[in-house]
Formats: sequence, structure tokens, C-alpha cells
Amino acid sequence: MTLLMIHAGDADPRAEVTRTGGLPSAPAGFEWPRCAQCGGALQFLGQVLLADVPGRGGDDRLVLLFQCDNDPGACENWEARSGSTAAPVVARGGLSPAGPPADGVTVLGAVSGVRFEVSDVEDYGEAREEYGERTGEPLRVVLGQLGGSTYWLQADQTPGCPDCRKPMTSVAHLEEGFDGANFGGGGIGYAFLCDGCPASARFFWQV
Ligand SMILES: [Zn+2]
Ligand SMILES: [Zn+2]
Repeated sequence: MTLLMIHAGDADPRAEVTRTGGLPSAPAGFEWPRCAQCGGALQFLGQVLLADVPGRGGDDRLVLLFQCDNDPGACENWEARSGSTAAPVVARGGLSPAGPPADGVTVLGAVSGVRFEVSDVEDYGEAREEYGERTGEPLRVVLGQLGGSTYWLQADQTPGCPDCRKPMTSVAHLEEGFDGANFGGGGIGYAFLCDGCPASARFFWQV
């Protein structure tokens, strides 16, 4: 089973739901993450409500996904450990949209709502193509998947948890989508979470 994320039109840029673009739903005092390589403010790509991920029903946390796009290609945002991406995990309730810093490339050009489509096809890449063939819709309406097995474009790069060192679990794949995310031109962004450490998540991409 593959849970596809399908573009559902424009969305409220402040909603505490799974979406791409807009502003991160963040707790009071949230510090917008900055790039460890260039020091610039990171770009907010989207957020995943963990309760939407298969097998995580009732998990009322959001993973906020960021990467550096201040000087594309300069900072190694394709590496989980580069420090040029960030994936803070926040508990839902009492959140409000965080305002971006005045400097840097901080938001995407659009906000996409997400609806979910269950596919019987196991492999994400095949499920994406099967969706396009079955519906006649362009492939770009498929914004990614939640959970499932990882569809690597290159070698397996399952990250280890920075805290406990155990292999992390895939929570989302993101396509470049309608919003102008830059994953090297047709790449996929990967969000991973540690099952044992509540605030430990990683984001990176392959192309
Ligand atoms: Zn940077
Ligand atoms: Zn851990």
C-alpha cells in the first residue's frame, strides 16, 4: 500500500495540517532555523501531520521541513547531516504561523493543500505513474507519499538518528510540486523520524 499525497488546490497558508508551502505552524518562541553552512535563513517547504502517516494514527505532532535555498548548489542540502536542512518536530495545539526572518529565501511561491489517495501499488515510483495513467492527470499533481517504504532515486541513504544512532523511519517523500521547491531539478525530498527520540527528524533529497 502506498499513501499518495495529491495536490488539492490552494490551501490556507496558516493551517495546522499537512501541506506544502505557507508558513510553519510553530509554538511560541520558535526560532526560524538557519543554515549551518552559509548562516542564511532556511526555506520552509511544508509540514507533515504525523497522524496522517500510516501506522501513526493519533500522533498529534507536526514535522516542519526546511532547507537552504539561498545560493542553490552551494550548501549541501542533499545531505542529512549538512546542517543546511532542518526538520523540527512540534506538538499540535497552541501553534501559530511563524513569521520568516527578513533576510534570505524563506518561503515557497505557493501553498498546496493535500488530499490522500490509497494505492495498491507497493512501490512509490510505480504508484505515482499508475495514478497518472489511471486518472489522466499530470504527474506533478502527485506531491509525494506519507510513510511507506522508501523510493530511492540513488543509493539507500537511510539516516541514523543523531541522538540514539538507530536507523530512522521514513515519514514523507516530497516532490518539487507546484510550489517551486528545489530538489536539484526533479529530485525527491525525504523526511525521516526516529521512533525512539521524540524530537529527532531529518530532511534531505536525492536527484
Ligand atoms: Zn546555506
Ligand atoms: Zn533516536
